[in-house]
Amino acid sequence: MTIRTRFAPSPTGFIHLGNLRSALYPWAFAQHHQGQFILRIEDTDQARSSLESVEVILEGLHWLGLDPDEGPIYQMQRLDRYQAVIQELLNAGLAYRCYMSELELNSLRDEQVANKEKPRYNGLWRPEPGKILPEHPVGVSPVIRFKNPLGGSVAWQDAVKGLIEISNEELDDLVIARSDGTPTYNFCVVVDDLDMQITHVIRGDDHVNNTPRQINIMRALGGTPPVYAHLPTVLNELGEKMSKRNGAMSVRDYQKAGYLPEAILNYLARLGWAHGDAEVFTKEQFVAWFELAHLGRSPAQHNPEKLLWLNHHYIQQADLTRLAELVRSFAEERGIDVHRGPNFEQVVGLLKDRASTLIEIADGAKLFYAPAPQHSAAQIAAHIPPTIKPALSDLRHAIEGCEASKEAYAAAIKAILAQHQIKMPVLAMPLRYALFATTQTPAIDAVMAIMGRKACIERLDRALGESS
Ligand code: GLU
Repeated sequence: MTIRTRFAPSPTGFIHLGNLRSALYPWAFAQHHQGQFILRIEDTDQARSSLESVEVILEGLHWLGLDPDEGPIYQMQRLDRYQAVIQELLNAGLAYRCYMSELELNSLRDEQVANKEKPRYNGLWRPEPGKILPEHPVGVSPVIRFKNPLGGSVAWQDAVKGLIEISNEELDDLVIARSDGTPTYNFCVVVDDLDMQITHVIRGDDHVNNTPRQINIMRALGGTPPVYAHLPTVLNELGEKMSKRNGAMSVRDYQKAGYLPEAILNYLARLGWAHGDAEVFTKEQFVAWFELAHLGRSPAQHNPEKLLWLNHHYIQQADLTRLAELVRSFAEERGIDVHRGPNFEQVVGLLKDRASTLIEIADGAKLFYAPAPQHSAAQIAAHIPPTIKPALSDLRHAIEGCEASKEAYAAAIKAILAQHQIKMPVLAMPLRYALFATTQTPAIDAVMAIMGRKACIERLDRALGESS
């Protein structure tokens, strides 16, 4: 049997980490078993679906490297197929037309609520042997309902939640086509899962309630239900269900905030699944280790600090050329012209050590590409004490003569400190100010090596009022 899984998002505008996990796990499961992962776009809710949102989904999956083996398949392009299956069910007596109007349905519901009963359709139009149905009312377009089995129960062994059994008495006859003929959500899912030969449905547990209905329809169509694995929800850091309304970030937001896809992937993998106590692993390891049996049973909680920590980790691991390329676009967005200044890869290589996001690196890079400072006399007086000028001047001459490397500059600085009997900060702060008009920079020897001897000397000369 070929394992076939799917991700079936509704393109209604937003895709947060919890949603993405419903793509990652089926993807990993299919990969693990050399199966296929299918992307199905559930766009039958035309009022809420948008092309823009489809784009976000495709882009997000691509960014994370979760491209489907098949699809995207759009439900709106399969309407004829759903109609044909509805007709099959009608012909087989497994579905029927129901002429109950909205008004009647509402009053039925009110009555049931008043009697403290669970609101449900009462089967008025359900054909049964020997039953006389009411006269068709004029001017009412019927909906089509599925004839849910009357007795017994629906049971499935959920790969996450264990055995779930629902009595058929709990389920009324589901509307599978609205009065305008459009098929309904649960019905389309069933037809698709069957047609696409899905073997494992791995999805959020907000769909548990739909599952018994879907299984009944599937069986009526002669299909064998897939294995279901319902993932517990993802909670935000406050323990609330993650959603756009309470500030969840979309996949695009993470990209824009300077996260690496491999960090998000590693993070998501652990959000409801574990392999021993492994926290950091490659995509390949994840695929090799992924088992449904190791899915968590309780809700996972989003931990932004952990994600940041993983991002820091993957920034350190990333190939420097790739990292620089990724940071470049953030730098350009910040108005940095990476061609006017030192080698960008070297700058990124220096700044990455302390960075947790690509944005932090891009922000740090500003220092290297800003124009040479034009200090006023007052600024010089405030930041470069006259007593320290001789040491700075000696340093300027030392670097002119030494090898142009971080190590050589470090040695030159050390020698000047000893010669002038001063401590590092006493020299480093005015030095930083002279070079960059700020006292905040990474290790000054490394910064100077990247800036290059010429730029350092020019800047020092200007600050010291010397010309060489
Ligand atoms: N379209 C559904 C959703 O976005 C998923 C349906 C399913 O996985 O069965 O929640």
